[in-house]
Amino acid sequence: MLEMRPSCECCDIALPPGAEALICSFECTFCPDCATALGKCPNCGGGLVPRPTRAAEKLARFPASTARVFNPDCKGLLSQPPSLATSD
Ligand SMILES: [Zn+2]
Ligand SMILES: [Zn+2]
Repeated sequence: MLEMRPSCECCDIALPPGAEALICSFECTFCPDCATALGKCPNCGGGLVPRPTRAAEKLARFPASTARVFNPDCKGLLSQPPSLATSD
């Protein structure tokens, strides 16, 4: 069963069970913006696919995870530093 993690691992935006989100096979979870920018999972290198939604009545019985996973290193992958002028 999917954990349905509550947030994007990269930018920490909230991703409730009904929100559009993408996951890898290990369920690293990303918002659409980060997933598009990353192209693949930055943790395991695997592909990202749309996370299925869970019906409300199932959520009542099988609640989504509330454990936020946040990877601060991910942001660095997204925002490539601008090419700074070198000493020459
Ligand atoms: Zn994100
Ligand atoms: Zn992954």
